[in-house]
Amino acid sequence: MTKTDDLSIELSRTYGKYLKGFLPFKYEDKTYSLVDIYVASPWTRCDVCGNHPIKYVYAIKHSDGSKLRVGNKCIERLTNCKVSGWFRKFKTKRENFIRNRRYLDGLDSILTAYKSSELPFKISENDIKRLHKAFERMCNGFNPTRKQKELAQNYISMGART
Ligand SMILES: [Zn+2]
Repeated sequence: MTKTDDLSIELSRTYGKYLKGFLPFKYEDKTYSLVDIYVASPWTRCDVCGNHPIKYVYAIKHSDGSKLRVGNKCIERLTNCKVSGWFRKFKTKRENFIRNRRYLDGLDSILTAYKSSELPFKISENDIKRLHKAFERMCNGFNPTRKQKELAQNYISMGART
């Protein structure tokens, strides 16, 4: 398991918890729960207002098993909750983990080796601090800055050569 895998699994758990913790709500005198959120491919139609195309789909389910696919505007009107904001943040994090995979996994190995004094090359204390900072930033789902990328790349290629 790589660091990126760990982070992705942890993020999926957050998603599961979010869905479970989302309060049921009423629509046309029936109670629905939010069961899934995803990007539609191809874009689809909102089952509540008929709006087309909708990119983000909020799948809601009634206890009789019937499901509706709802767009951003309708889900927020029905639930009075900024669910699309939450989902966008979640999606960005997930994409960033994948995009930064080589830096995340590369720095994870370097920082782990450094801790156990097994690094086959030297890194200054200052650079270790900077790498830590970059690593934490990526673990929190953000992209590294250009400088952080350069620094990480520099040490990752050193690691690859040894
Ligand atoms: Zn709608």
